[in-house]
Amino acid sequence: MVIVGDDPASQVYVANKEKACTELGMYSEKYALPAETTEEELLSLIDRLNHDDKIHGILVQLPLPKHLDDKLIINHILPEKDVDAFHPANVGKIMIGDFDFVPCTPAGVMELIRESEVPVEGKECVVIGRSNIVGKPMSMLLLHQNGTVTICHSRTKDLKDVTRRADILVAAVGIPKFVKADMVKPGAVVIDVGMDRDENGKLCGDVDFAEVEPIAGAITPVPGGVGPMTIAMLMRNTLTAAKRAHEKKGC
Ligand code: NAP
Repeated sequence: MVIVGDDPASQVYVANKEKACTELGMYSEKYALPAETTEEELLSLIDRLNHDDKIHGILVQLPLPKHLDDKLIINHILPEKDVDAFHPANVGKIMIGDFDFVPCTPAGVMELIRESEVPVEGKECVVIGRSNIVGKPMSMLLLHQNGTVTICHSRTKDLKDVTRRADILVAAVGIPKFVKADMVKPGAVVIDVGMDRDENGKLCGDVDFAEVEPIAGAITPVPGGVGPMTIAMLMRNTLTAAKRAHEKKGC
C-alpha cells in the first residue's frame, strides 16, 4: 500500500485495508510518503515493488497530490500486481469479459447481488456515474451478466425517467442523498456506492436512505454496505495475484 500526502479520507481507507490484511494474516507493507514526493521517487518505489517476490499486489491510493500524474503512476504497476485493476491492460480485459481482476468496488457490488440471489439477466440496470473506477466497470459487469444496462451522468436528460425504469439501480455519483424516492421504481434493488458527508459532516451515501428504503425491494446502507465489500474484493484480488504468481513459478 502506497499513500502519498495526508488526505484524511485516504488515510482511513488505507488503515482499513491494512487492518484487513492483518485480520487475514496477509503480509503487507505500507509506504506513507510525504506530499512533496517526486514522480521519480514514486516510480522507483513501484519498480522495486514490481520486482519484489514477496509482494503480489500493489495499491497506490488515489487521488495523488496534484503534481503527480495518476495515469503515469498506475501504468507503471505491473498488470499482474495491479490488484485495483486500474491498469489499461486490466481495464481492457474487463471490457472483453476475460479478466483476472475486477475493480474492487464494482466487484463488491456484484458479490452483493450474487449473494442476495438478485437476478440480473434481462433486468433493467441503471448506473448513475461513469467514472473509470466505479461507473464504467460496474456497467460492464452488469452487461456481462446479461443485464440491459443504461449509464447516466451529469449530462443525462430527464434522469428521473431513466432511473425509474431500473430494476437494479446503482448510485455512484458522489453527491450526498442524491437519489430520492421519486427516482426509484417500487421494489427496485438499490445499491449505494457513495461515500459522502451530510450537512453535519456525518458519513452518508448517494441515496437518501430514509426516503428510499420504504419503497425499495432491497437497499444497501452507508456505512456498512458496499464499503466493506470493496476491501474484501481487494483482498480477493491479492489472493488471486498470489496464486497466479505461484502457478507461474510452477509451485
Ligand atoms: P466521480 O469520479 O466524481 O464520478 C461521479 C459521476 O457522477 C460522474 O460520472 C458524473 O458525471 C456523475 N454525476 C455527477 N453529478 C451528476 C448528476 N447531477 N446527475 C447524474 N450524474 C452525475 O466519483 P466516483 O469516483 O465514481 O465515486 C462516486 C461515489 O462513490 C463517491 O461518493 C465516492 O466517494 C464513492 N466511492 C465509494 C467507494 C467504496 O468503496 N464504497 C469506492 C469508490 C468510490 P460526469 O461524468 O458527467 O461528470
